[in-house]
Amino acid sequence: MTPSDGTSSFDEVNQSFDKAADRLGLADGVREMLRRPWRELRVSVPIRMDDGSIKVFDGYRVQHNGVRGPYKGGIRYHPDADQEEVRALASLMTWKNALADIPFGGAKGGVQCDPAQLSEDELNRLTRRYTVNIEHLLGVNRDIPAPDLGTDAQTMAWMMDAYGQIHGYIPGVVTGKPVELGGSVGREQATGRGVVFVTRNAAMDMGMDHSQARIVIQGFGNVGSWTANIAGELGCKVTGVSDVNGGVHNEAGLDIPALLDHKREAGTVAGFAGGEPMSNAELLELDCEVLIPAAIDRVIHKENAPNVRAGMIVEAANHPLTPEADDIFEDRGIPVIPDILVNAGGVIVSYFEWTQNLYQHRWTIDEVNTELDSIISKAYRKVRETAGEKGLSHRDAAFLIGVGRVAETSRIRGFL
Ligand code: GLU
Repeated sequence: MTPSDGTSSFDEVNQSFDKAADRLGLADGVREMLRRPWRELRVSVPIRMDDGSIKVFDGYRVQHNGVRGPYKGGIRYHPDADQEEVRALASLMTWKNALADIPFGGAKGGVQCDPAQLSEDELNRLTRRYTVNIEHLLGVNRDIPAPDLGTDAQTMAWMMDAYGQIHGYIPGVVTGKPVELGGSVGREQATGRGVVFVTRNAAMDMGMDHSQARIVIQGFGNVGSWTANIAGELGCKVTGVSDVNGGVHNEAGLDIPALLDHKREAGTVAGFAGGEPMSNAELLELDCEVLIPAAIDRVIHKENAPNVRAGMIVEAANHPLTPEADDIFEDRGIPVIPDILVNAGGVIVSYFEWTQNLYQHRWTIDEVNTELDSIISKAYRKVRETAGEKGLSHRDAAFLIGVGRVAETSRIRGFL
């Protein structure tokens, strides 16, 4: 998928980790302990398909680091979700949760499959079998999954039910559940809302008027579509969006409610009449103030980074830039606001959901959104301050804070 010279995603994430470890002066052993996943599980996930045949999928759960609290991170259903990819995403969760200063370690799970090719019944059976196979790792105070790419609130309902068949009713064992089953209001929108809060803060600091800025969003799944929706509500101008089937562009600003209606009916943004059709590759190179990659990893790399014409890049997806692309933007003076800050809104509201489940009390949507703004904006300010004081990129500053907090907690716990 990516011209990244065969480097794995985990190696790439570790380039940022290593820079932080160098700056913190971490001893070799501590560095090794923080870099490596603490536990990895690969499971076979056999299911009966609707046609009666049996298919076996590979499933993973990687618990990267549990120093700061129970392991926390989503479950991805995607053809690229192999062990290496899940490992990279698990380590990003460790640094993301520490940067947001919420009481979790980092984990990630995945099943290597194409969910678009599976029926609802097949997905239900796949989720149950996967859950039963990793169940011994999970627990409300041990490891708490959530949705990610290719999974949603329904997937979490099946997981909670499968876990409950063994352990009884424990809604806090997964987050991102349907509200009817103990999910939090605002969780589904939370990642997109966080992206918009961070974009607003960064635009303000960079002297842009966010309501005038042209915003281009690549990816129109949960994160991309809610980002567009909420940005639209705040009066921002979204001039381009795309999904796997293609994109649309309108320099005057897309009519987001009409686009969302089109997506609901057609299942894609491609073919929307309120703009010009455009490929994903062209979309990434549109002239704009804010470019938001909100789909999969490594979509901006050394080949297309020189052609990007954005004033700022806001990483809503996990790991959408290769390190070479990062260097190119640094040379070109284009600020990159990193994934572990930008997309933390999802796991922050997962934390609220878990808290609500633990004390059996529901928050209002205003409480959720106000508290989300406060936590993500605090993390944003810390990143800005650190970047300014130490002369670092936003990514290097974010990793320095995240890795520093995990290292310090390890030291205080005294187990080394
Ligand atoms: N999958 C989301 C992420 O990558 C949310 C994880 C969670 O809520 O635990 O941050």
